[in-house]
Amino acid sequence: MNKDCLFCRIGAKQIPSKIVYEDPELFAFEDISPQAPTHILICPRKHFESLTDASAEDQVVLGKLQLVAAQLARERKLLQGYRTVLNNGEGAGQSVFHLHLHLLGGRPFRWPPG
Ligand code: 5GP
Ligand code: ZN
Repeated sequence: MNKDCLFCRIGAKQIPSKIVYEDPELFAFEDISPQAPTHILICPRKHFESLTDASAEDQVVLGKLQLVAAQLARERKLLQGYRTVLNNGEGAGQSVFHLHLHLLGGRPFRWPPG
């Protein structure tokens, strides 16, 4: 827990959010500025700034982020497809420096992303 981190504070329920999933390792909540009908952020409770700061000991939790995304996509019946996105660094659009996986669904997506 980093007391200066927005997402650590959301995970600790010090800042309100719409939490849609939680367990001892991860929590997931609705994005405040959704870019698709479903837009959920899935975070490890452990504070990492980005994927660049993760190491081999984190491989289970990093895999679990994707599996929770798939579970939420099934629950929400995102039958036309969904996208998981992990922005790393300002140049890739990261704006909150606590690693998080975006789950986006409910509309068509283009490739390549912008
Ligand atoms: P990034 O740009 O770092 O990949 O994604 C950060 C995401 O966090 C953005 O989609 C933004 O809308 C979301 N966000 C920023 N502040 C808050 C907040 O206070 N509450 C919630 N629920 N989402 C936030
Ligand atoms: Zn944090």
